Amino acid sequence: MIRSLPAITLLSCLAATSAVADATDDRIHELEHLFVNAMVLNGPEVVDCTLSGGAQSTCFTITVKAEPQDYEPGPWCPTSGSDGPELAGKWFVDGEFVDADGAFMASLADVYDDPKWQMVDPETGEIKVTDSLEQCAAAARPDVGAEYENFCVVCEASYMDEDAAVTYTIPLEPVAQDNPMPTNQTGSGVAFNGIRLDGPAPVDAILGAYTVAPFDDCGGHVNLHVGYHYHAATDCLETTAQDDGGDAPVIGIAMDGYDIRANLGVQDPTLDECNGHDQGDGYHYHAGEEGANLILGCMTAQAGCVAEDAGAKCDASARPPRP
Ligand SMILES: [Zn+2]
Ligand SMILES: [Zn+2]
Repeated sequence: MIRSLPAITLLSCLAATSAVADATDDRIHELEHLFVNAMVLNGPEVVDCTLSGGAQSTCFTITVKAEPQDYEPGPWCPTSGSDGPELAGKWFVDGEFVDADGAFMASLADVYDDPKWQMVDPETGEIKVTDSLEQCAAAARPDVGAEYENFCVVCEASYMDEDAAVTYTIPLEPVAQDNPMPTNQTGSGVAFNGIRLDGPAPVDAILGAYTVAPFDDCGGHVNLHVGYHYHAATDCLETTAQDDGGDAPVIGIAMDGYDIRANLGVQDPTLDECNGHDQGDGYHYHAGEEGANLILGCMTAQAGCVAEDAGAKCDASARPPRP
């Protein structure tokens, strides 16, 4: 005979279960609001997931198009040495977010103290810019051919498949890990406009090929995997609707589930090595400065997944190294 549980235990079990369900519902509802300005194709909805450290967890998943709804990305490359900053994007130089305009492109030999740089044709004043899917793919590879030396590299969003989308699967409750994990494999997270907050851009590899792959004024450019994505968190991500609660506004969610707030603008001694802290209102990160090439350097909890195919089940512990 099965011994029946005292009624009181059953009741409190049911109450606890529905409290968890309510909290999950509330969070999903909150996420729907936070992503209201993103181009959402599916979600947010609750799924099982395996995090980067192997934890079995509960995640939300959301599939978005990498298209900001409130501005047109670009411009990126100037086409002439006389093009001003309004015709060009930005680049990272010594921690600064500088205009990558014609004058800058003409100064690269001085900036990098290497006469091999000659982005601007001394005869015509023109700048060579990649102008096709094939050139974008060839010049954005890790092993760029010498024929692309002194090219300004741009990939257009129009090179992406019509139905290209990115799926983020992120823990509803962060799960701690022993050692902070760098973001160069996972990316930093996703902004509430649905655009990827990426890990650091491989600036040394890009410069090593004598190319520049500028970001637009919002800190974004396009690759053929996730489309438009950010390497800097700029004020493009801050809206007047955001409640900052006395801190910098929340601009997105990290891959480990913690909030990412805007850069603080000051060196705050309470920030840990991953630029996170808990000021009594819950642990969160602050994005690095615009020119730092570091939206987040690392994460203190286990990361979820970012995928180009929406149906994939998230197992972040099995993620192959990024090429
Ligand atoms: Zn990039
Ligand atoms: Zn803070």
